[in-house]
Amino acid sequence: MAQVLLAVSELEAAYGDQQVLWGVSLEVRVGEIVALIGPNGAGKTTLLRTVAGLMRPLRGSVRFDGEPIDALPPDEIVARGLTLVPEGRRLFRAMTVQDNLELGAYPHRARAQRRATLDEVFALFPVLAERRHQSAGTLSGGEQQMLAIGRALMARPRLLMLDEPSMGLAPVIVERVLDAVRAVAASGVTVLLVEQSAYQALERADRAYVVREGRIVVEGSARRLLSQDDFRRAYIGL
Ligand code: ATP
Repeated sequence: MAQVLLAVSELEAAYGDQQVLWGVSLEVRVGEIVALIGPNGAGKTTLLRTVAGLMRPLRGSVRFDGEPIDALPPDEIVARGLTLVPEGRRLFRAMTVQDNLELGAYPHRARAQRRATLDEVFALFPVLAERRHQSAGTLSGGEQQMLAIGRALMARPRLLMLDEPSMGLAPVIVERVLDAVRAVAASGVTVLLVEQSAYQALERADRAYVVREGRIVVEGSARRLLSQDDFRRAYIGL
């Protein structure tokens, strides 16, 4: 089996005195697409933010490539190769597509390879190359999500975490964005994907975890879970 890239162990997190994660453990191996699904408010965003160093856990540990990262600042975590595409994209709408992308190349190592990475991102998302001189705010929703993913790739991550990339997009565009996530994985980047479009995410994932009320309640091979009627009824609404 491939090497473990991300190992989250017994993680607990809270906002003030409201605890939202309770003993969450999960693993992502090199080369995998791992989907994290579950209802609104289950704690998925909190989990990604904690892994990215944007929140401190109450308890538990996060290891990346074998090293503990749960006490590191977010920029150091990005520099080590773990990048988050946040919910809602957070683009600079008045800036051009290319300027948004170049902002993503802020870690030292990524800055030196900025030109080459930009070409790789344009090869992965040709529409961004076509629109490179347009302001980001003029892109469609799906294109903006691809730009947010492209910007994260500019940091040259080994693990890309995506928080609901399909949010607010029409169904056909959801498919296109999730196909783009697959293309990213095929290019050699490991993926941890939080998604409300559970069926579409599991169709493209290797493994999945279901989060409910701050706990992992189901985990397994995506294909196997999708083949189980009781799982589909409980978590996918089919
Ligand atoms: P969603 O799909 O709605 O983003 P989620 O599974 O990502 O859901 P979280 O956003 O992690 O869930 O939220 C988990 C819980 O933490 C919810 O009860 C939410 O109300 C609460 N919460 C989230 N952000 C904050 C915050 N900044 N301050 C206080 N409570 C918060």
